Amino acid sequence: MIDPFGRAITYLRVSVTDRCDLRCVYCMSEDMTFLPKMEILSLEEIDRLCGAFIRLGTNKIRITGGEPLVRRDVMSLFRSLGGRIGGLPNQGLDELTVTTNGTQLARYATDLFAAGVRRVNVSLDTLDPARFTAMTRWGKIEKTLDGIFAARAAGLAIRINAVAMKGVNEHEFDDMIAWCGEHGFDLCLIETMPLGDVDGDRTDQYLPLSVVRSRLRQTWTLEETPYQTGGPARYFTVAQTGRRIGFITPMTHNFCESCNRVRLTCTGTLYMCLGQDDQADFRAILRAGASDDELGAAILAAIAHKPLGHDFVIDRRSEKPALARHMSVTGG
Ligand code: SAM
Ligand code: SF4
Repeated sequence: MIDPFGRAITYLRVSVTDRCDLRCVYCMSEDMTFLPKMEILSLEEIDRLCGAFIRLGTNKIRITGGEPLVRRDVMSLFRSLGGRIGGLPNQGLDELTVTTNGTQLARYATDLFAAGVRRVNVSLDTLDPARFTAMTRWGKIEKTLDGIFAARAAGLAIRINAVAMKGVNEHEFDDMIAWCGEHGFDLCLIETMPLGDVDGDRTDQYLPLSVVRSRLRQTWTLEETPYQTGGPARYFTVAQTGRRIGFITPMTHNFCESCNRVRLTCTGTLYMCLGQDDQADFRAILRAGASDDELGAAILAAIAHKPLGHDFVIDRRSEKPALARHMSVTGG
């Protein structure tokens, strides 16, 4: 699958639910209305669509949400997709991964490993229990920490994702680098993106990671590395800990030129870009009884409309998000 700008599209992110057991302040409003079940693809429908993408050259799938591990029976999807790892070029997955808030990991870590998952991204924005509860509106840090350590014990490599928020967790990053170093985790800092209404003013929360990086350099030696995971993060090695730190900077640095991914929502909408509205409805196609060939043709037609990139701007006067949909719809 090659898009109109010559980029090979090999990475599919799949949001399996819009629901979540937390309400992170930058991601959701407190009072969210979730989609009715009818509108959500069944796990079998998601699996079939993933199979169609794999036949067209997708070699990496990340399962996300909402919180993917709160979807009932989600392990059956992991097992089925895990069975597609390996095989001949263009016929199987190289990697199956998941992004999770970690609350259910203590329960599922061993099953994920058994299904073929080898790396997980776990969101943890702070190491302070009270701040964790404030940032997630009601979460308990112990549950996420238990999940993280269960994942490590199960043999999964862990990347901690932290959204950088001005005046909230910005003074914790030194501690988080040290903590990740001590436990053998990579760390990835993410700029807040203006997606969806969250009952707050994002212009107050936005913190450019270029500022964070120069601050971190006063304490840590950050060595350039060519390491890539196929995602948008730019990585450095922290010389003192030997672990990696990544920066995802959609606001200060446009990473679109090397974009290799598209996003499927739990309702079967394929978004060609996280920051644009270009989309295709695969639920209608699936439920109209499309054959595998018709599915493949619809995927190729959608990829032919992938836009060049996004241009997030926070409108300071209206304080409206750049896009109405929340991150929990497209899964980040
Ligand atoms: N619930 C899972 C989790 O929290 O990891 C998976 C879905 S969550 C939407 C995926 C990632 O998006 C998380 O790392 C989260 O911190 C990040 N995220 C959510 N809203 C964001 C926003 N407005 N700007 C930047 N990152 C955001
Ligand atoms: Fe839930 Fe993840 Fe969004 Fe937090 S970032 S509210 S854990 S979907």
